[in-house]
Amino acid sequence: MNFTSVNPYTQKKIKSYPALSAQSLDQKIKQADRAFTGWSALSLEERLAYFRKVAAYLRQEKQRYGALMTAEMGKTLKEAVAEVEKCAVGCDYYVEHAPRFLADLTIRTEAKKSFVAYEPLGAVLAVMPWNFPFWQVFRFAIPSLLAGNVGLLKHAANVSGCSLAIEEIFRACDFPTGTFQSLLIESKTVETVLKDPRVKAVTLTGSEKAGMSVASIAGSQVKKSVLELGGSDALIVLADADLEKAAQTAVQSRMQNAGQSCIAAKRFIVEKSVKKEFTERVLSHIQAIQQGDPTLETTTMGPVARVDLAETIESQCAETVRQGARILHSGNREGCNVQPILLDKVKPGMTAFDQETFGPLAVIVEAKDEQDAVKLANQSNYGLGSALWTRDLERADRLARQIQAGSVFVNSLMRSDPRVPFGGVKLSGFGRELAEVGMKEFLNIKTVWME
Ligand code: NDP
Repeated sequence: MNFTSVNPYTQKKIKSYPALSAQSLDQKIKQADRAFTGWSALSLEERLAYFRKVAAYLRQEKQRYGALMTAEMGKTLKEAVAEVEKCAVGCDYYVEHAPRFLADLTIRTEAKKSFVAYEPLGAVLAVMPWNFPFWQVFRFAIPSLLAGNVGLLKHAANVSGCSLAIEEIFRACDFPTGTFQSLLIESKTVETVLKDPRVKAVTLTGSEKAGMSVASIAGSQVKKSVLELGGSDALIVLADADLEKAAQTAVQSRMQNAGQSCIAAKRFIVEKSVKKEFTERVLSHIQAIQQGDPTLETTTMGPVARVDLAETIESQCAETVRQGARILHSGNREGCNVQPILLDKVKPGMTAFDQETFGPLAVIVEAKDEQDAVKLANQSNYGLGSALWTRDLERADRLARQIQAGSVFVNSLMRSDPRVPFGGVKLSGFGRELAEVGMKEFLNIKTVWME
């Protein structure tokens, strides 16, 4: 069995990578288990020093790793280089804050001393997707490893080059052998890894189908899982919003990474009185998108990562049109090169409203008023991110609390930022990544009580 990376823009094969044999897989898990003993015994200051090195190395090598991401999954080189920089920023953030997050927490009780200590669990498996092939991995690896865990990565089959490159980064920064390893395995082998007693927990980012499978296996073994699954984020635009800023941000949110982001604004829900003006502004930003060769500076949107993903978005669009939506913008598809699409008159019950759309497809949904907008936003099986545009911040505060999602960004681009927790409700998953709570997902939060 081989994993083959194919350049989505050219459709040319880049390289094939052999899958790990059962014996090599066992060897790697053994190595992770051994590495945990030494790595978790280091002082936090020692582990921080490794991550200072990683941050510097990522910044030094950002062009090389950016080019690799662009080749394997098609994001523009500019987006890819920015993603490597974001990983370095993630290191900076946790290096600065980990000492505070991991410090013992004294709790005043009648005991002589009572406190909480944060201790690592061991080897944590990360099942990761191809859409942000570096950031998704680093946002797990930085806090987990800093806290003393070791990492095993099962990356998506189409980004094996990125998977091995990330392992190489930890090697180049002199991490002890086994601290972070890439496993080139098929998704069906995840079960074997997760059932291994030397593997203590799992985090998965991807589709709900993958999440359901992995979480059930983890459940059967009573192992902790964190799931960051799909989303169908609403972007609500109320009549008092800054329409130009809202339109520009909506298009950026939906179209960046060729629309392949779990937190892209997938449903633009707009108050009736401003719908016409907002839609015109959105259309003009969509018309300005230059789809094409992701290595060129002038390209603002690359191809989607695989032909099957392009076909899915195309059929979701066709179905939604059959169900009564109106096309305001589209274009011919060539392989993975999907032109940005804008649909109007989208309603609940239509495919692009009900399903996650993972590509450059924006839809306009009309809302009667603010309460109707919130109702439409919540009329989804997902609840990952969301955005709300209004100049009235008191109103925003009130409405933000009514939106069923893991995040609400008001008058701003919904994004993942190491300083704030990231994750969802409903079918978007459970658990949180990033910030202090994300760091504590894979720790034994140990109570010590002394009388
Ligand atoms: P998948 O969920 O299939 O892939 C994500 C990761 O999970 C990959 O590493 C994949 O491995 C692995 N995986 C898949 N199935 C299983 C399983 N049963 N057990 C264990 N691991 C598994 O996503 P796709 O790439 O197929 O994309 C399909 C859709 O999923 C997208 O259109 C989008 O809707 C959603 N998605 C959401 C993401 C997000 O950021 N929330 C990211 C990616 C996809 P392998 O590649 O070997 O199959």
